[in-house]
Amino acid sequence: MSRKARIGIVGAGMGGLVAAGLLQREGHDVVLYDQAPGFSRLGAGIQFGPNVMKVLARLDGLDQSLEAISCLPDYWVSRNGHDGTVLAEIPLNAERQRYGAPYITIHRGDLQQAMLDRIDPERVKWGARLVNFDDDGASVSLEFADGRTDKVDVLVAADGINSVIREKLFGYEAPVYTGWIAHRAIIPGAVAQSLGADVNAKWWSHDRHIVCYYLDKAKSEFYLVTGEPAEWTSASGQLPSTREAFKASFADYHPMVQGYIDAAETVTKWPLKTREPLSRWHAGRVVLLGDACHPMKPHMAQGAAMAVEDAAVLARCLSEIGFDDLERSFSAYYDCRKARATRVQTISNANTWLRQPEDPYWCYGDNVYDIELTS
Ligand code: FAD
Repeated sequence: MSRKARIGIVGAGMGGLVAAGLLQREGHDVVLYDQAPGFSRLGAGIQFGPNVMKVLARLDGLDQSLEAISCLPDYWVSRNGHDGTVLAEIPLNAERQRYGAPYITIHRGDLQQAMLDRIDPERVKWGARLVNFDDDGASVSLEFADGRTDKVDVLVAADGINSVIREKLFGYEAPVYTGWIAHRAIIPGAVAQSLGADVNAKWWSHDRHIVCYYLDKAKSEFYLVTGEPAEWTSASGQLPSTREAFKASFADYHPMVQGYIDAAETVTKWPLKTREPLSRWHAGRVVLLGDACHPMKPHMAQGAAMAVEDAAVLARCLSEIGFDDLERSFSAYYDCRKARATRVQTISNANTWLRQPEDPYWCYGDNVYDIELTS
């Protein structure tokens, strides 16, 4: 096969978008498919650490575009949920030079739009729900719910925690509900400022927490996202909730937190799910990345970060090792990524990250472009 290949990526989430952008820049014929009818501005926030921003710098200055519109917290503040005592203050942008890139907090929709702007729109196929594929050893045939078909040299599964591609490769296994949900709401930044909010903080008590941060440079939106024990029986990935239910869960929290929740108009709740680590991330011409192979509870704010790092290392392996020996390229990708992704997954699931003073350099200081690929 020539070095430039036709690559199908299923899933236009964080991992799929970055994989598409990087592989297009290597000159490959990349098609990105997503089941969603089109882009929509989901009401949620996301934090991206310096380890991710170093990858985004490779997408025509996406890092700088995001820095121009996002919030740049100097510190991460860890507080006792009841009395507000500071448990830890961890430098973020206060040690930007050491980490090698900024730390941003941003609206997910703004982030996704900026990523989409870096991809050839002709190569993004919306409303394309993959229902089946067949790898015959020479190529992979794709089948979509609306009857569309396609044929690619390599199939990248970036289709998230409920990946149908993972299921077909390795068998069905339901994701594990962790017994925790996340309440989410966005409140006016002015309310948070009037209450004296930290720029980026996590308030902890023994079995729950709430993370709070601004979503934009102007601090006009302030995001609340929790982790808390609850029953979950619905098959849905999210449900509407209420301010009252949200408040009841944090009734014994500090008055500042109560003030945030009082300002919440629209509240949703999400089940937090995970899976056991996989011992293989590829088979034949098909390879997995992000939540499709290592979903986790979100408590390190590094799930999407790992998907982006996966995308960068996979793009490097396909470009530097090549397509002629896919087993070698995909094995090198797995060998590079497995230990770090599993370490992050384990700490994130344990929900211990930055609760007490610690140095996060091993996570934020990492640069996937410095790693030597072994194969
Ligand atoms: P996804 O983002 O899930 O994307 C999968 C895509 O595949 C979707 O667009 C979906 O429509 C598409 N798809 C699925 N099936 C098909 C199909 N059959 N055919 C076609 N398309 C399909 N991570 C961070 O780094 N920082 C944070 O601050 C952070 N906060 C979080 C807060 C919460 C409450 C939660 C739940 C998660 C958080 N995460 C965070 C984790 C992060 O959201 C995920 O790890 C990340 O979205 C995974 O990216 P992905 O590209 O692998 O999959």
